[in-house]
Amino acid sequence: MCIFCRIIEGSAPGYVVYEDELTFAFLDINPISDGHTLIVTRAHVERVEDLPAQHSEALFRTLRRLLGPIQRAMGVPSTSIGVNNGREAGQLVPHVHVHVIPRSAAGKRVFTDAVARIKPRSPEYFSEIAAKIRGEVEATV
Ligand code: AMP
Ligand code: ZN
Repeated sequence: MCIFCRIIEGSAPGYVVYEDELTFAFLDINPISDGHTLIVTRAHVERVEDLPAQHSEALFRTLRRLLGPIQRAMGVPSTSIGVNNGREAGQLVPHVHVHVIPRSAAGKRVFTDAVARIKPRSPEYFSEIAAKIRGEVEATV
């Protein structure tokens, strides 16, 4: 059983901040900032694309519900929200989890603003990639 499933069932310690029928939230044990919270589905599903609709909706509902309380509790105006979806993306725990990272102006930069962007690209480059993705979306919807 994965570490997050063990926290959910109570056989591993966790600093729980919220739970409902389908979702569960607890503090990240190695926080990027104070109040760094992980929101998970109770169901053990490895990747976002494999979540049943009911679970993904519940996950986003819980995310919306917790943002205000987390920000007020930590006295910050903003949060970074992210998912490492798959091993190559840095996902260490194979159970879908949304990172909620309280941010203040004084905080270190994380996520997209810390990543060096790839070189400036031409309009053709963007058109080609957008067409490829649209094609795949149309083939699967
Ligand atoms: P990721 O790299 O997106 O899979 O993130 C996994 C996160 O889980 C990391 O930020 C870890 O600090 C956190 N983590 C790992 N084990 C525990 C645990 N037992 N309790 C709380 N957070 C954990
Ligand atoms: Zn699990």
